[in-house]
Amino acid sequence: MSAGRFAPSPSGDLHIGNLRTALLAWLCARRTGRDFVIRVEDLDRVREGAETRQLADLAAIGLDWDGPVVRQSERARFYDAALASLAGRGLVFECFCTRREILEAPSAPHAPPGSYPGTCRDLTEAEREARRQDRPAALRLRSDVATFTVQDALHGTYEGVVDDFVLRRGDGAVAYNLAVVVDDAQQGIDQVVRGDDLLSSAPRQAYLASLLGSTPPSYVHVPLALNTEGKRLAKRDGAVTLAELGPQTFGLIVASLGMHGSSPRELLETFEIEQIPRDPWIFVPPA
Ligand SMILES: [Zn+2]
Repeated sequence: MSAGRFAPSPSGDLHIGNLRTALLAWLCARRTGRDFVIRVEDLDRVREGAETRQLADLAAIGLDWDGPVVRQSERARFYDAALASLAGRGLVFECFCTRREILEAPSAPHAPPGSYPGTCRDLTEAEREARRQDRPAALRLRSDVATFTVQDALHGTYEGVVDDFVLRRGDGAVAYNLAVVVDDAQQGIDQVVRGDDLLSSAPRQAYLASLLGSTPPSYVHVPLALNTEGKRLAKRDGAVTLAELGPQTFGLIVASLGMHGSSPRELLETFEIEQIPRDPWIFVPPA
């Protein structure tokens, strides 16, 4: 199977920027003859009823999807299996650092702020045993690269940092980067269309995919919707959801893409991935 996807977190209603990204993901998948699947990323930040409303909103703007909706909360066994596979190859280590310790540790030259300085990478078993008394360990990937390169339809060749990133948090929750990679591989997702705030995490995910024996997907990181102050659009920016904007929502999205059409199917007739606007969409809520 060959598929694209939209993967919302059910933390609240989708805003018009989320719906725009969903429409672009649908167009990219359908334009290239792929299936389109919905995956609910509900490992944390779940709000009661949000998933139902999100799916209804996607259907309301004319999007359809293939197969059942997949929920990450139901897939722990697959994440555990991937972790076990990596651990069996010596690619996982326990980390006892707090966020503060990581920020304050001297880091490698040119490493971006917050990247893991390697503190726990080479602890002895005795040291680990001692530190386990303090706090539960997170599990990190023992990365043997410093950077990794991905291909993006809008950003071209993109090289980004790969540090020893977290695979499972200290509280036992699977990390986003691991879940996404396992799910994409297993769902046959070979095209990832999402907001460009996630571009910098694509190299980590593509590297992890390669370690797990899958081919990294092709990427299309699309510009986000911003508010009039240039910040990422959010619920507090006024009328931004389908419930608030009503039937004009689809037309506003289509206009923002410089396209014409009254349904996703109609847009599909002329849509080309290369024509996706490269600049953020400044959204001004209608008065
Ligand atoms: Zn550590």
